[in-house]
Order: sequence, then structure tokens, then C-alpha cells
Amino acid sequence: MATALAFAVTSPVAPLAPLELQRRELRPHDVLIEISFCGVCHSDLHQARNEWGHSSYPMVPGHEIVGEVRQLGSAVTRFALGDRVGVGCMVDSCAECGPCRAGQEQFCERGAAFTYNGTEMDRRTPTYGGYSTHIVVQEHFVLRVPAALELARAAPLLCAGITTYSPLVRWGTGPGTRVAVVGLGGLGHVAVKLARALGAEVSVLSTSPNKREDAARLGAQAFELTATPEAFRRLRGRFDVVLDTVSAVHDYDPYLRLLRPGGTMAVVGIPPEPVRLRAGSLIGGNRVLAGSSIGGLAETQRMLEFCAAHGVLADIELIPASRLNEAYERLAKNDVKYRFVVDLASLHARRGAAPEPASAQK
Ligand code: NAP
Ligand code: ZN
Repeated sequence: MATALAFAVTSPVAPLAPLELQRRELRPHDVLIEISFCGVCHSDLHQARNEWGHSSYPMVPGHEIVGEVRQLGSAVTRFALGDRVGVGCMVDSCAECGPCRAGQEQFCERGAAFTYNGTEMDRRTPTYGGYSTHIVVQEHFVLRVPAALELARAAPLLCAGITTYSPLVRWGTGPGTRVAVVGLGGLGHVAVKLARALGAEVSVLSTSPNKREDAARLGAQAFELTATPEAFRRLRGRFDVVLDTVSAVHDYDPYLRLLRPGGTMAVVGIPPEPVRLRAGSLIGGNRVLAGSSIGGLAETQRMLEFCAAHGVLADIELIPASRLNEAYERLAKNDVKYRFVVDLASLHARRGAAPEPASAQK
């Protein structure tokens, strides 16, 4: 077993604090990863604070993991020691059901093993995520990080990247299409870069006047403040795809009306409360309201290759693990440009200095 040093929460109101845990002995198909960086997704905050109502503690959040392979199980063929790798929102699934065989492991009929706040496929052993020095993951769930991608800035691609790439591609984003990205946060800013790289004309719809210049720098051709009803009137029927990344409760109706007939609003943001919706907003114009959940492993690898080919990386604020609580406060206040990424170097140094622990958690 490998001792890992992590940051964990023990209740919805507890701050993140250091926790030692044991990563399991390698099974034949397992890879031990030394984590270099881990992105801070708004889903980490939602779950640490139990905003979705299914949190279990202690919880080590983090599902935007990048690092290097340090040990290989006896049957691992796809990786070698020292490979630059990533892990996203899942660490295992049944591999046998229809969705798993179709490359949609997130919809595994037995329930995928999510990277944290979940269980391994034995449904007993808790999973602990990437605010941690090490993680052990079944090789099918390990991604290759192309050499062209700077490691720290690639971390957010493992969740924010695939979560926006998958619906953008599914709903036909490309040259000649108009895409509106709602919410310029961690997901939203990557979505702008991806939609531009796919060839679309991109508008940002935001609540934050101070993000106008950033939107242009990130590649958006237009920036609209959603506080003004005038913008909704002017943009009516304009977009082929509206990608909604907003983490807070808001009405879907005004955004649906921005779609051209037959257009699609893809929702990826997960507000903690239900959303009300007028049927007329869908019916007028045969509009589609769709959800999208991360993406399967093969598609995630394709996304990473696409980002390498097009120079798509996250804009990050790199922090040591000791500043995670401050990062959570700022994320809750919509004060991040545009993704916090934890540099685990200081945790590695602390772990190196510590004696081997007597107790084991996992
Ligand atoms: P984030 O960095 O906090 O960005 C969310 C953005 O939403 C903010 O930057 C802000 O953009 C906008 N916003 C915040 N409060 C708002 C309000 N009250 N009204 C309107 N807009 C508001 O969060 P993130 O990490 O990108 O995650 C976004 C959401 O996606 C979260 O709910 C997360 O759980 C979810 N998520 C879903 C999946 C999936 O598979 N579907 C995967 C990962 C994350 P402006 O300042 O531009 O308005
Ligand atoms: Zn995420």
C-alpha cells in the first residue's frame, strides 16, 4: 500500500484539512499515479458542502488530476513508468454493460465508481480524489496527457474540458454555427476556447461586467450581460447551441428563446435547486433542452488530443494545498479567473518528511 497525504472535509461545514490515507495495493490492471496538480471544480464545492444531498465524509475532493505513473500492476500494458497521465471524474465501471461497451462509462448500469464521494465497484470501499499526493486507478480510467499540453494548465481539461467538449461536439458545433456560452467560469472559459477551436462563432452570456475583456481575449466574438432584458430581446433566435454552465439557480426560459428553431440548449451546470420551465419556451421553435454528463474515456482522450492540436489549455491560478479553503471561499463568490489548480508539491514535501503512519484508511 502507498501512503498518501490528502486534504479532506469531514462535514458540510468543516474546512479542508490534512488527512493521511492508504492507497490500495496494486491489482494487475492498476496504476499508481504521483499527482502533480489537481483542478478545483465547482462540483468539489457543491459536494464538500453537501449541496446535492448525497455527500459522505471524510471526503477528499478533486477530479481534475494530472501526474506521473510511479508503479504498474503486473498486467498493465498501456502505460510505462514516468508517463504523463490524467484522471477525471471516474475510476472504474463494470466494463460489461451496454453503456460501458459503448464508451459511455459514466452511465454504467451498475453505477460507475466516481473519483470521490463514491465507492469502488465493491460498493463498500470509499473513493478519495485528487487533493492528494497519490492515487491508484484501473488503467482503463487513466488518460494520456499529450506532451504538448502544459501539465498544470491541462488538469482542468479532465473535467471542465470533457464536460464542455462532449456536448459541443454532439450538438454540431463547427464552422457556420453560433454558440452561446452561459457563465464564464471554469467550464465556461474552456468552452469558449473549444467552441472557437471547433470553428464556431462564440458569444459569452455573463452576469459579470468585469469579464468583458477576458471574454474577448479567450476568443469570444461577443459578450452580453444577462442583467439586461434588452440583450435577450436583441439575441432572440440567434444561436444554434446554448451551453449553460451556470452553477446557481436561474431561469432556463430566457436562454431557450435565444435558440434558432430546432436549436439545442445543453445544460451542464448543476444548480442545487430545481428549475422551473415554461413548455412554450421549448415548443415555440421545436427547441431541444438537453443535459450532458462529463464524457466517456475514449472521448476524453480525443478531447485531450484536440486540445493539444489546437493549443487549448485552462487559464489557472496555481495554489498550494494550504490555500484550498481560501479558494473555496473565492469560488463561492465567483472570484476566480478561471480555475484554481492545486500544486501538490508542498504536500509531497510534507509526506516525504513524515514517518510511515500506523493506521490505514484505504
Ligand atoms: P464556476 O467556475 O464557479 O463557474 C460558474 C459560472 O456561473 C460563474 O463563473 C458565473 O459566470 C456563473 N454564475 C455564478 N453564479 C451565478 C448566478 N447566481 N447567476 C448566473 N450566473 C452565475 O463553476 P464550474 O466549475 O465552471 O462549474 C459550473 C457548474 O457545472 C457547476 O454546477 C458544476 O457542478 C457543474 N459541472 C457539471 C458537470 C457535468 O458533467 N454536467 C461537470 C463538471 C461541473 P458569470 O460570472 O460569467 O456569470
Ligand atoms: Zn468537475
